[in-house]
Amino acid sequence: RDFKDAGLHPIMLENVVLSKYSYPTPIQCYCLPAVLTGHDVVAIAQTGSGKTAAFLIPILSRLMGKARQIAAPRPNPTRYNRATDRVRAEPLVLIVCPTRELACQIFDEARRLCYRTMLRPCVIYGGAPTKNQREQLEMGCDILIATPGRLKDFMSNMNLLSLNRLKYTVFDEADELLSSGWEDTIEQLFQASTSNIDGDHTYLMFSATFPKEARKLVREYLEDDHVSIK
Ligand code: AMP
Repeated sequence: RDFKDAGLHPIMLENVVLSKYSYPTPIQCYCLPAVLTGHDVVAIAQTGSGKTAAFLIPILSRLMGKARQIAAPRPNPTRYNRATDRVRAEPLVLIVCPTRELACQIFDEARRLCYRTMLRPCVIYGGAPTKNQREQLEMGCDILIATPGRLKDFMSNMNLLSLNRLKYTVFDEADELLSSGWEDTIEQLFQASTSNIDGDHTYLMFSATFPKEARKLVREYLEDDHVSIK
């Protein structure tokens, strides 16, 4: 198994090499082909298994094919006027995870893998002022990494964030998300993303355990032909 044979977009393959990843980890071996062929994925995965790259690499690779057409609108960077150039963030990918630390780790990896792709990642999390995060979103956001509380705050302000263009939603550490009081927000995200404009939507769920709340969401919202990785 080799990244070179996975059918990745050439720029993505270069970014994988720049990240010094020589060979895919086991979860990447299963996850890459599943996502590249458009399947929903449910994976039992621990931290350290390479799960972040397992979802980022194939998602970014698929988006890359048409990145120039689909990248989010950006304010003019040379003459940026915050009052007049305000754009609403319309991410293509939403990655929800339970903690700020995990969000920042995913963001670091996304930034590396987005190098020269035209796709712009942003991260939002609680316990920090909203101002800077809001400004980052206004600069354009294709890949949004978020903790559920801050995401809910930003979503309730519809001028800030719209999920209408979402193509991929990733729930990382889904068991933690579902046991920390965010069940309703998670369910709302499933509902919001199924009603997006084109209707083609891919879900990925990564978790160390699969409690019944997670299994219920899989039954209700994922395609029957989703790929399970254990
Ligand atoms: P994660 O399980 O996503 O937290 O990843 C754990 C660590 O493994 C991170 O530091 C990644 O940068 C690294 N990593 C991910 N994929 C690979 C790979 N194919 N080869 C070597 N290191 C990797």
